[in-house]
Amino acid sequence: MNNHTDAHILFIKRKLTHLGIPETHLLFKALPLQSEPENLVSIGRDCVGQIQRMEPLAAEAWQEMRKAASGNNITLNPISGFRSIAEQTAIIERKLSRGMPINDILKVIAPPGYSEHHTGQAIDISDGDNDDLTERFAESVSFKWLMKNASLFNFTLSYPKNNSTGIAFEPWHWRFKE
Ligand SMILES: [Zn+2]
Repeated sequence: MNNHTDAHILFIKRKLTHLGIPETHLLFKALPLQSEPENLVSIGRDCVGQIQRMEPLAAEAWQEMRKAASGNNITLNPISGFRSIAEQTAIIERKLSRGMPINDILKVIAPPGYSEHHTGQAIDISDGDNDDLTERFAESVSFKWLMKNASLFNFTLSYPKNNSTGIAFEPWHWRFKE
C-alpha cells in the first residue's frame, strides 16, 4: 500500500494543482498518500440506500464485527466505505463551485489521494441515530462498544481526540489493518 508508482504520484499532483491545493498544505496535515485497492466487494446499503463497498478482507472483518455487535444489541450501520480519488476530487470541485475557499474545504475533507477511504479499508459508522457523522456519536453505546471491541476485528480509530494529523476528532471513522 505504501509503494506508490511515479505515475500515481504524478496523477495526484495534477489533481492537487487542478484544485488549487498547495503541496505545503499536505506536509502540514501529515497524511500519507493512499492507493485504491485491486478488488472491492459490496457490504450492503447505507442509510440512503446506496451500495457501499470495501476491500475484501476489510469487508469480511466489518461483517464479522457488525454481527458480533448485533449479538450484544449494538447497532453498527455503514455510512461510507470505499471512495475513489475521482469521487473525492468531484466532491471538492462541487464545494469550490459553491464558493467555499479551499482551506475551509480541507478542514472537513482530505485532499484527493490522501483519504483513508481510497484504500477500501476505512469505514464511517453510525448507530442509526448519528447518520450525519458528528462528535455526538462519541456519546453513543455503539462508540463505546467499538472502543472496547473493534481491535478484536483489526479496526482502529484513525483520528482520536488531539491526534497528530491535523484532522479533527472523528469517532465514526474506523480503519481496518491486516
Ligand atoms: Zn471517514
